[in-house]
Amino acid sequence: MKYFIKGTFILLLLSLYLLTCYGQPGYKNFKVAVYARSYEVRKMGDLHWLDSIWTDISVQVHVDKIYLETHRDLVMVQEDTLEMVQKYFNDRGIETSGGITYTVYEPNRFQTFCYSTPEHRQKVQEIIEYTALHFDEIILDDFFFTNCKCERCIEAKGTMSWTDFRLQLMTEAAENLILKPARKVNPDVKVIIKYPNWYEHFQGLGFNLETEPLLFDGIYTGTETRDAFISAQHLQPYHGYSIFRYFENIKPGGNLGGWVDTYGSPYLDRYGEQLWLTLFAKAPEITLFDFRQLQRPLSQFPPVSWQGLGTSFDLEELMEQIGPNVLPTIAHAVGYTFGKVDPIIGELGNPVGIKCYRPYHSVGEDFLPSFLGMVGLPVEIVPEYPSEESTILLTESAAFDEQLILKIKESLLEGKTVIITSGLLKVLEKKGLNDLAEIRYTNHKMLVNEYVVDRRRIPAEKEILIPQIKYLTNDSWEVISAINGPVGCPLLLEAGYNEGRLFVLTIPENYTDLYGLPEPVLTRLRVLLGGDQLAQLSGPGNISLLLYDNNSLIVESFRDETVSLKILADAQAITLVDLQTGETITGNSDPARGGWNFSKIPEKRVFEFTLKPHSFRAFRLK
Ligand SMILES: [Zn+2]
Repeated sequence: MKYFIKGTFILLLLSLYLLTCYGQPGYKNFKVAVYARSYEVRKMGDLHWLDSIWTDISVQVHVDKIYLETHRDLVMVQEDTLEMVQKYFNDRGIETSGGITYTVYEPNRFQTFCYSTPEHRQKVQEIIEYTALHFDEIILDDFFFTNCKCERCIEAKGTMSWTDFRLQLMTEAAENLILKPARKVNPDVKVIIKYPNWYEHFQGLGFNLETEPLLFDGIYTGTETRDAFISAQHLQPYHGYSIFRYFENIKPGGNLGGWVDTYGSPYLDRYGEQLWLTLFAKAPEITLFDFRQLQRPLSQFPPVSWQGLGTSFDLEELMEQIGPNVLPTIAHAVGYTFGKVDPIIGELGNPVGIKCYRPYHSVGEDFLPSFLGMVGLPVEIVPEYPSEESTILLTESAAFDEQLILKIKESLLEGKTVIITSGLLKVLEKKGLNDLAEIRYTNHKMLVNEYVVDRRRIPAEKEILIPQIKYLTNDSWEVISAINGPVGCPLLLEAGYNEGRLFVLTIPENYTDLYGLPEPVLTRLRVLLGGDQLAQLSGPGNISLLLYDNNSLIVESFRDETVSLKILADAQAITLVDLQTGETITGNSDPARGGWNFSKIPEKRVFEFTLKPHSFRAFRLK
């Protein structure tokens, strides 16, 4: 016994020693990388400075890899510094990869290089050659696009659109200025292109999602969504999940990670949400931007009204873990979050959802899939028409496909469900949709404050503005009506075509008005549009449902208050098991509905639970 205690004590001491030397143990289900800008890598030449920071970081969060940037804003890191820093990390068992930011001067509205100017092209090539000499893996951060409109670029563009000109220009630059020179200098090099979060507008700046994922060895996803109110693009939180899935669907197995920075999160939970949504999307690696931000004190974030409720990002629990007299930093918050979600990630299968088709380089109803994801519709964006799916979701951008009407027709003839948004209806009406059903997008709008589901009036808290859609009675059916007094128009319209069902979903003029739709309206939408998925959500908006192909699911709330929710599943499901606590929730049966002109809904099993503010719960249906 005495030897046992002594042995245990020695083991404990050894673990403490190893923790001090090598930091936190690794995570089972993902790798963690840190990105360091050239400004900081330059400073790392002072090994004493580097060591004091790195020692702190590595006891707070396990890091597998560091991206050492060689260039940003014409700031290049000297060779001797780069080699010294690389050795420092490699000696500590940390992988090193290169990073390049192709900006001329970031603070000047993200000024990029001009790919029509010989001197700039030369510089772009020199930077990659220099980096490829030192690294077998290089990532290009966010800026391998061009926003140059100099005289040369204007002349080179000629009569082409900026989109067409830049798409061609940047594909050519990728091949001739980046990939060929890098591979010539280092035949083993793998070059990864990291894309930012604004995919709807990529083509206009030359980011080419059609050609580049095939040319580059890997792609990488900017999953940061920050604060929807003040950030450009006003990205919704679900976007952090759906953009990773979209890029994974563009290059299956080749989307190597998600990337989150600490900018712009109005409160700490928002930062945590971005981290775990990236991992719930099954990113194999997560990059923390950046080295200098990891040491920011958490005291910079304001207090929140839900603090102390034991939410998913539980500050009290974090403080208990790190102990007294320690100033908590971003790195602590990251370590805490990763430790919490790692066991859950291992329980999740492959993400699945309602396939939403976005043709390459298309625009229309910008980022709408993210807004739909915020009301519990599990949307999965794909770059090809998903003809094999039983339900297909199409927003306005799908109209870029000239063959779209034919494809919709074929799907309906095969007995499938096709959902089109009001924005797409507006475009397709003039392109032959009337051959399927005579439905009109009018110029009239209506302020609505009440809804009708199954002939039942459901008042709403907020009045919203929607486009008025017109149809031919008894040819199409208003399955959810939006009304104002004794008049209304469809929120969801259904038309039959052979064995298929065509739904037209009316999108409010302000997309976020979807979030305020009354619960019975949202639940009916989820059941009708996502009925062939593993489960549907019953409850208010501002809540997302993430589904996986092994009967697991995650419900994530972005609301500021605790809510009661229900999961609706197949009648065969018996229990819903919480993957974190092991709690088993038994379901009740909800009988089949339908008859007369109501939509048919099969029998469901209903599971009730509560969800705290800004929190997730992960479950498995059994
Ligand atoms: Zn130019």
